[in-house]
Amino acid sequence: MVDLKSQYKKIKTEVDAAILQVIDAAQFIGGPEVNSFQQELEAYLGAKHVIPCANGTDALQIAMMALGLKPGDEVITPSFTYVATTEVIALLGLTPVFVDVDPKTFCIDVSKIEAAITPKTKLIVPVHLYGQSADMDPIMEIAKKHNLFVVEDNAQAIGCDYTHRDGTKSKTGTIGTIGTTSFFPSKNLGCYGDGGAMFTNDSELAVILKQVANHGQTIKYHHERVGCNSRLDNLQAAVLRIKLRSLDDYCNARRKVADFYDENLSKLKGITVPYRAENSRHVFHQYTMLLDGIDRDKLAEHLASKNIPSMIYYPIPAHKQKMFAAFNCESQDLPVTDWLTGRVLSLPIHTEMEQEQLDYIYSAIKEFIEA
Ligand SMILES: *Cc1c(COP(=O)(O)O)cnc(C)c1O
Repeated sequence: MVDLKSQYKKIKTEVDAAILQVIDAAQFIGGPEVNSFQQELEAYLGAKHVIPCANGTDALQIAMMALGLKPGDEVITPSFTYVATTEVIALLGLTPVFVDVDPKTFCIDVSKIEAAITPKTKLIVPVHLYGQSADMDPIMEIAKKHNLFVVEDNAQAIGCDYTHRDGTKSKTGTIGTIGTTSFFPSKNLGCYGDGGAMFTNDSELAVILKQVANHGQTIKYHHERVGCNSRLDNLQAAVLRIKLRSLDDYCNARRKVADFYDENLSKLKGITVPYRAENSRHVFHQYTMLLDGIDRDKLAEHLASKNIPSMIYYPIPAHKQKMFAAFNCESQDLPVTDWLTGRVLSLPIHTEMEQEQLDYIYSAIKEFIEA
C-alpha cells in the first residue's frame, strides 16, 4: 500500500547524516531536533503550540486527559474510524456516543450531532478520515452553542487545508480546541518508528498538555497532575524535520495518483470514486472507492493474485466491536456507517507511484469488472 523504501532513497543522504548526528551527540530524548521540529511544525500549521508525544493514540489520550474530562462524560465521535479514536474514550472511563457519517465525505455527519448531545456531553471528536476534513465550521458552532470541547483526530490529514465559510483557510487540526496527529511510518508525515503530536492555540492548555505528557510535571519532580510518559525521540524528530520540508510535495504526489484513479475508475460500472468536498483540500492518506454490485472479496483476491494490495478501512465499525459491548451500542442504527463498511475498498497510494504501476492497477480492476 505504501513504498517507504523508494521515498527514503530520495532523502537518504540527508536522513543518514541527521541520524548519525543525533547518535554522535548521544542526545536521544529531548534535545535540539525535537525542539526545532516542534517550531517548524508550528510554523507549517500556523498553530501557536505543537506538543510532540509518542504516537497518535497517546495524543488523543493526552488531549482528553488535559481537558479534565470525568468518568461518565460523553464524547461524540464517528463509529467509522480507526480503533484508536474510540478506544481512548473508553480507556479513560468516558462514554463514546457514536454518530453516523456523511455518505460522501465519510466524516461525521454534522446534521446528526445535535440530536446526540445530552447534559453529559463534553467533547466532540471529528476524524478527518482518509485525508479529507470534516466540516469544521458547523462543528465549531455546535460546540460553542453547547459549551463543548472539540478534539480533531488529524492522524490521516496532516497538511490538509479547510476553507471556512468566510473564505479563509486553516490547516486541519488547528481549528478545534486541540488537534492530534500520528507520525506512524505510513502516515502522510511519517517517521521511522512511532511518533505523534498535539496542536493547540490555547497557551494555558498547551502547558497542561505538556505536563500530562511528562508525568504531570513542568518542574522536575514537582508532579502537579496525573500524567503519563509520552515522548517523541530526537532520532524521529530528525527524520521528521527533513520530511516536513517535503510534506506539500508529498500531498501533491498523492493527489496526482488520486487524479489518475478518479479519471479512469469513474469510467467503470459500479465504482464510485472519492468525493472531494469544496471546502477541503484532500491529502489522500487513503484512496477509497465505493463498490456497488461488485464482489469486494473477489476483486481484492483478483488484485492480490496480481500482487496488487488493497485494504478495507475499516471492516468492522467501532459500535460493533466487542471492545464496546458494555456500552450496548451494537444494535445502534448507523445506516451510513454500516453501508460504507460493506462497500469501501482502498487502493495503493503513496508518494512514489510510477505511471506504469498505476496503469497496471487500473487494467487489473478493469479486467475484473468487465469480465
Ligand atoms: C493512525 C491513527 C491513529 C493512531 O496513531 P498511532 O500513531 O498509530 O497511535 C489515530 N487515529 C487515526 C484516525 C489514525 O489513522
